[in-house]
Amino acid sequence: MNKCVLCDKTIEDNFSSLFLEKNSFCYKCFAKFKRREEKFEIDGVKGIVLYWYDEFFKDVLYQYKGCYDYLLKDVFLGYLYEDIKRKYRKYVIVLAPSNENEEEKRGFNHLENIFLGVRLPIVKCFSKNKKWKQSSKKIEERKEVQNIIKIDKTLLNGVKKVLIVDDVMTSGSTIKAMIRQIPSNIDKKVLVLASNCRFLANDFN
Ligand SMILES: [Zn+2]
Repeated sequence: MNKCVLCDKTIEDNFSSLFLEKNSFCYKCFAKFKRREEKFEIDGVKGIVLYWYDEFFKDVLYQYKGCYDYLLKDVFLGYLYEDIKRKYRKYVIVLAPSNENEEEKRGFNHLENIFLGVRLPIVKCFSKNKKWKQSSKKIEERKEVQNIIKIDKTLLNGVKKVLIVDDVMTSGSTIKAMIRQIPSNIDKKVLVLASNCRFLANDFN
């Protein structure tokens, strides 16, 4: 019997999926993610946020991203892999750029490993060109993010539809910077795992 990577209890539910080699977490733990599934619009592009960025999400993300607990990669989307693949079957996933120093230390791209389970093509066409930690910056300074995220457009040759993904959305500035750099003839959608942003009309425009 497998043990849950979050609660360490034996997994009793019979969830099985072609998308998970083996079930690494229990449904009770997955149910602790506070589902939000709210739609929003950012710079005219439609997006969806899956969860609230609450203490539970924050803890699990920190354990995975900050403590390099690679085994947690499937807990964020494991029960949703098939839904996401079905919904975005003609899309190519474009990852928000990660901090390269942290990625090197961690030994894996945290976002890529969450989305590998969806089994759609993934393109890493964005990079950050200097050390940057958004959460430590004030809103005014976040405008600078536009100059920090760089695109390699050649990696999008022949691509018609992209699903821009990120783990947490705070000011929306990273997503905006990505949207603005992707050629306008490419159809775009956004999916973020968690956010506490309140989406009012024209919030992000
Ligand atoms: Zn569990």
